[in-house]
Amino acid sequence: MITVLKENTTKQQRDNLIRWFEAQGLKVHISEGEYQTVLGLVGDTSRVDDGLVEALEIVERVTRVTESYKAANRKFHPEDTVVSIGDVKIGGGSFAMIAGPCSVESESQILEIAQSVQKSGAALLRGGAFKPRTSPYDFQGMKAEGLELLLEAKQETGMPIVTEIMNAEHLPLFEGVDVLQIGARNMQNFELLKAVGKTNKPILLKRGLANTLKELLMSAEYIMSEGNGNVILCERGIRTFETYTRNTLDLSAIPALREKTHLPIVVDPSHATGKSSLVESMALAAVAAGADGLMIEVHNDPQNALCDGAQSLTPAQFDKLADKVRKIREVIS
Ligand code: PEP
Ligand code: MN
Repeated sequence: MITVLKENTTKQQRDNLIRWFEAQGLKVHISEGEYQTVLGLVGDTSRVDDGLVEALEIVERVTRVTESYKAANRKFHPEDTVVSIGDVKIGGGSFAMIAGPCSVESESQILEIAQSVQKSGAALLRGGAFKPRTSPYDFQGMKAEGLELLLEAKQETGMPIVTEIMNAEHLPLFEGVDVLQIGARNMQNFELLKAVGKTNKPILLKRGLANTLKELLMSAEYIMSEGNGNVILCERGIRTFETYTRNTLDLSAIPALREKTHLPIVVDPSHATGKSSLVESMALAAVAAGADGLMIEVHNDPQNALCDGAQSLTPAQFDKLADKVRKIREVIS
């Protein structure tokens, strides 16, 4: 971090500031120019509040050289992180597909979908039991009963399960769940992030509706700073002025995150587009752009789905998509 002091700063003011930095465990290099003094801070500056420093009367400006996220930062961890979920690996060249309905609706629904997506090559089964809905009058999920049905589908198929947790108090119910999903609406629910950071389960962290990549990485940092390094990032579209699609899929997030972090990156083209007719193209584009995985909503009866039917693929459509994904992967590998 670099702090540029204003021209009229006295030596005493400068020394006070240096002592304040040193009290925070930082080394300070002073470079005195004709008009300005520049302080170079060396050490762990992640806890320094740059806004506070910049607001000081004697400070002209502050520039960060390293980002405030450390654990998620590729600079400090150059190798790709590979997250293992049973035998399934995501990241570092390993690719996995997560598929299943938006919500668990019944035993026959989840079992039928699980078996079909598994046949098509999905490695993980998704399904919401606790649903974050915009309207309190919409279907809120089957809750604990939905989790039971997911566990049954896991037992039947052997597929690890991915499902959203909205409240840290529910953690005991999620014991048999393999991957905890943090939904877009909870990306900055910091207490929830800290709570899942204390578990040893892989976390699928979805990007918030209007959050920057830096904010996504800071949220990953919340989880990792509690000791859980098994974080998978998920780009699921962001809100823009376009309304034709449910969200706008930020494909550049894939190579951009790749530069900034070692964590695996999964793309969810279902919530990104909101339209089943657009899901395949965006899934293939994401794979071509280097995604480590896909998360796709699949329903055996989309027209009668209790949630997100418009964006859900049928098992047959998913099968076709999975085939094309394999071909794209062959081309880019
Ligand atoms: C979901 O995956 O079912 C979901 C609610 O996604 P998001 O949090 O990305 O909206
Ligand atoms: Mn959904």
